[in-house]
Amino acid sequence: MLGMEGDFPGVAGYSRKNIWLSISPDPNPILGIPDHELEQGRCGLEEILKLRKSSLGPSLSISYQRPLKIVRGFRQYLYDETGRTFLDSVNNVPHVGHCHPRVVKAAQEQIAVLNTNTRYLHDNLVRYAERLRERLPEPLRVFFFVNSGSEANDLALRLARTYTGAKDMIVVDGAYHGHLTSLIEISPYKFDGPGGPGRPPFTQKVIMPDVYQGPYRAGDPDAGAKYAAHVSEAVERIHKEDRKPAGFICESLLSCGGQIVLPDNYLREAFRRVREAGGVCIADEVQVGFGRVGTHFWGFETQGVIPDIVTMGKPIGNGHPLAAVVTTREIADAFATGMEYFNTYGGNPVSCAVGLAVLDVIEEEKLQENALAVGGRLKAGLEKLKEKHALIGDVRGLGLFVGVELVLDRKTRARATLHAAYIAERMREEGILLSTDGPFRNVLKIKPPMVFSASDADLLIAVLDRILSEDPLRGRSPKGHP
Ligand code: PMP
Repeated sequence: MLGMEGDFPGVAGYSRKNIWLSISPDPNPILGIPDHELEQGRCGLEEILKLRKSSLGPSLSISYQRPLKIVRGFRQYLYDETGRTFLDSVNNVPHVGHCHPRVVKAAQEQIAVLNTNTRYLHDNLVRYAERLRERLPEPLRVFFFVNSGSEANDLALRLARTYTGAKDMIVVDGAYHGHLTSLIEISPYKFDGPGGPGRPPFTQKVIMPDVYQGPYRAGDPDAGAKYAAHVSEAVERIHKEDRKPAGFICESLLSCGGQIVLPDNYLREAFRRVREAGGVCIADEVQVGFGRVGTHFWGFETQGVIPDIVTMGKPIGNGHPLAAVVTTREIADAFATGMEYFNTYGGNPVSCAVGLAVLDVIEEEKLQENALAVGGRLKAGLEKLKEKHALIGDVRGLGLFVGVELVLDRKTRARATLHAAYIAERMREEGILLSTDGPFRNVLKIKPPMVFSASDADLLIAVLDRILSEDPLRGRSPKGHP
């Protein structure tokens, strides 16, 4: 098997593809497959890169030094234009698996019959709201359907600001909540990042509740409450300006922040302080909702809190542009100021059919249970690697939302950014897709489709183990970066 398990790319190692092609005759004169059905009938990688460069905005990056052209997806697998299989360990959008037949069929059937806006009555919209409602605690009862996580968070801001009559928001450092102007203003990841305009005066940051790198560390039973105390400092800064906070927005587990699990009591204490100051609490579940954490359907449930507003996106439509906001009757009613909220595509019959199918598959295929079991196995395997490889400083996560923080030195916890980039590239070469995150991009990010299996977890661990033993990772800055 040439040292490969489970990802055998054909008759030879992938690195020898060109040699084999050069000595193998082309079978097509005998097979007679039309040109347009073969790769030579399609755009080559170079051509696509050239066309992108000339016709797309340059503020968009491409994954991997050797870009991938993916032409097909199924379950947890992606296939490139040569037919090579990649194990997708990082896309949390195709939640129930790439191109799940049930979801595809639901969309196809509905789009063939009707797709229009929510000013007409339709069963799908109310049935879908009912189904989501069954998954949520009181008093989260009223829905708004939109098309992207950004739209959901923008609407959440409008709800919070209209309800409280205030504008100031408290946000967690390193957070990303979306690409709209209103969200760049509350996303330190963007406003403090490259090209960012800096923090607006109506946004207050609190430090990331990171028990590995932050001031209050794992082992301190009060770490969560201590991080939450910083929320009161933010409230005081707003009060000093003679204003009050509109609210606090926080992901239920921090994604861009570096795959961080919130310490116990963090949200409970933070929410209490925000509510005492008259603000509302928004949980951004765009990345982590829908059973990913394994033990619960929503990330906020792991903190024992009930937010005033919850935003959902990515996994909700398995790749179809669907997102939602749920809130309380009181907040929704306060938003009915006379200005209508209408969203051309949000909640259309096709989107709702897709949303319903996703919920059906999560339940029928027991994907939350799978996330718990496979995520546990994955974390246990990564913990074992930590014993063997000093580069791994921390392994953390819940269910199939896992982070591996790489450090140059376990005492100083200096971030191993280049090592993380090297590993992500090498994993890609070996047929496993994952990526890096965190403010220093030194955290390996693993959040695969929820159909990820035990053998996928074992394969990922085995390949990572092999790569962690490679020579370039022994120095402080890995050379031989592919
Ligand atoms: N919130 C979080 C936590 C996100 O990660 C993202 C997207 N990465 C968004 C909101 C925005 O979602 P979208 O890209 O669908 O607008």
